[in-house]
Amino acid sequence: MSNAKQTRRVTPASSETLPDALLVVDDTETIVSANASAHTMLGATREELCGTSLWRAAPHLVSPSLYQAVQKVKQTREPIEVAYVSPATNRWLHVSLSPTDEGLALLFQEQLEPLPLQDALSGNEQLYRALLESVADGVTIVTLDGLVLDINQRPLADAHLRREEVVGKPLSDLPAWSSDPAVQQRLRAALAQAAQGETVSFEARIHPRTDLSLDILMTITAHRDASQQIEYLICAGRNITEHKQAEDELRTLVDAIPHFVWIAGPDGSVTYNNQRLIDSLAMTHEQAEGDGWLAGVHPDDRQRVWEAWQTSIQTGEPYEVEHRMQDGTSGAYRWFLVRSVPQRNAQGTTLHWVGTCTDIDEQKRTEEALRQSQERASVLMNSSIIGIFVAEEDQVVEANETYLRMTGYTREDLRAGRINWFRMTPPEYATQTQQARQELSVPHHVTRYEKDYLCKDGSHLPVVVGGVALRLDPLQVIGFVLDNSAHKELEQRKDTFIGMASHELRNPLTALKLQTTLLHRQLARQGLQASAPALSRMETQINKVTRLVEELLDGSKIQAGRLEYLQETVNLDALLREITDTMQQTSPSHRILVRGTVGANLIGDQDRLGQVFTNLISNAIKYSPDAEAIEMDLSASEDAVTISIHDHGIGIPQAQRDKIFERFYRASGPSQKAIPGLGMGLYIVAEIVKRHGGTITVESTVGKGSTFTVTLPRTPAA
Ligand code: ADP
Repeated sequence: MSNAKQTRRVTPASSETLPDALLVVDDTETIVSANASAHTMLGATREELCGTSLWRAAPHLVSPSLYQAVQKVKQTREPIEVAYVSPATNRWLHVSLSPTDEGLALLFQEQLEPLPLQDALSGNEQLYRALLESVADGVTIVTLDGLVLDINQRPLADAHLRREEVVGKPLSDLPAWSSDPAVQQRLRAALAQAAQGETVSFEARIHPRTDLSLDILMTITAHRDASQQIEYLICAGRNITEHKQAEDELRTLVDAIPHFVWIAGPDGSVTYNNQRLIDSLAMTHEQAEGDGWLAGVHPDDRQRVWEAWQTSIQTGEPYEVEHRMQDGTSGAYRWFLVRSVPQRNAQGTTLHWVGTCTDIDEQKRTEEALRQSQERASVLMNSSIIGIFVAEEDQVVEANETYLRMTGYTREDLRAGRINWFRMTPPEYATQTQQARQELSVPHHVTRYEKDYLCKDGSHLPVVVGGVALRLDPLQVIGFVLDNSAHKELEQRKDTFIGMASHELRNPLTALKLQTTLLHRQLARQGLQASAPALSRMETQINKVTRLVEELLDGSKIQAGRLEYLQETVNLDALLREITDTMQQTSPSHRILVRGTVGANLIGDQDRLGQVFTNLISNAIKYSPDAEAIEMDLSASEDAVTISIHDHGIGIPQAQRDKIFERFYRASGPSQKAIPGLGMGLYIVAEIVKRHGGTITVESTVGKGSTFTVTLPRTPAA
């Protein structure tokens, strides 16, 4: 200690000296004897003094200088002298210390004035006092056992205590510390640690008086002598009450905001987590501090998070990491964006890190869904199965490899704007494609349909196409194209087979029919009438099979575009009369009523037109098993004739009405299924009507009946 001035010789300068007080202490610094002056000086009886620690018994004699001197004599076993101002009386004390066999003797001289040779010394002593009192902190000097040797005014004033009430007593027993056992314990532990030479700092809330509590930052350091021996401990308590209050207010504020906020020390150890974060982690504040929070991080992210955090701590770079954090209550993980920046003082030293966690789970999930969908879209886009293109108006502006491969165009053609989906349409599909284009502007998508593409080399590629309008004005479409050639080829083979099979069946059937007719006649000539009904039934069945085979044959001829039509004058009224008469004979179950006449001849193929009405009438009979009549209404206008065939049968569901004119299509209801057929009749009918320049429509009510209306122009278009 700077003021601890030891002198070998001191010469008294003033005559005003008080009687010398003698104290003898043992090795443990316990008073073993005291003379009468000592009793007077210390105001205590012999009993009170003997057996008491020197430091406790004589508070107004105690000073760090004396303590230092006592320790020195014990160490060196050499006499020593020391002079200092008693902090209690403000008088100079001159003490001679001499070793004895079991301890040491101390001779105290109390003087009003400093001795002349103590001038230099008095300067130091005054400087020490002034310093001690000038520091803003409360300073206490204690022995290695924690007994107070000296204390400045600040803590005394806070505690309303006098110095002599404190000196010589254990610091931890002062009311400021003893009122809270935990705080007291903390101080004791810190003193013990500091006595080992360590500098210890800790924050504590002390109560110097019952009506005063203070937050202090206590720092305890060991003071060493020239030989590095620890002499005593210096405890400096800094009042941080205001700072703590401000911090508390800040925490209250930070706890109230709906975000996760945390603070870490310069070493990265978390010192504070706001209440929301604590609630989310379902940890206690203590559990989440230090690196405890890491337990809440998803195991797969932990390593990455820890490394990034350590890097920021070391480099001082802002910390920014996305990771999953567990909701401690539900156990579910959510994604967070965690950010932290260092707070530095004017010198650039990091004071602490302030961090936030923002919930980005929703965004992450959306991103993930987007990524997955992009991945899926790109798999689809790059697949060799489906051709995909983007068109603006008619021009293809983007296409995948498959589309280019199918159509034979190159990427260069695409870039140069040489691909035009409308121009790639052969004339026979122009109407259909135009319809598809119009469809885009209303339901904004095109139901897939079959067509051919005109490839770059002029070849035809059967395809199935469909698309969605991305924008209407100007039209932007994303479309898909599937190569339909395999399917088309298969259909072609099927048609060829049907054509061949029906052709092959027709010849033996014709022979069979001829033989039956011959047999019929022969038996009639021989008068053998008994077998006639059986033969008639045979003929009926042969006729049915023949009609089915004819239908198949016609169907495949239409497919191949080989159905031939004559151009002849047809008396429609006569034709219809003949048909209805014949059918009335073969189908006595229904009455066929004809209303009105056409009153005009047509140009067309008589047999084929006959086929149309035979078919419509036989359907009307077939699909109205419980009805009794079929009505046929004939009318004519200047340009056209109209024939309506009306039945009271099962009807056709709305959804199937358009399809019944397709090849092999049969309505699928249970009542329809019970009635046999190939689904070819209406296909042939529609084709013949179309080839005559006419139209066929159907109206129907399920359970009530259907009306098929054929309109034919009087003179077919050129
Ligand atoms: P099919 O040989 O099956 O009669 P069509 O091509 O003549 O074949 O008719 C197609 C389908 O249309 C039939 O399966 C039937 O479901 C329906 N259909 C045709 N005409 C009628 C009708 N008059 N009443 C009810 N359904 C009909």
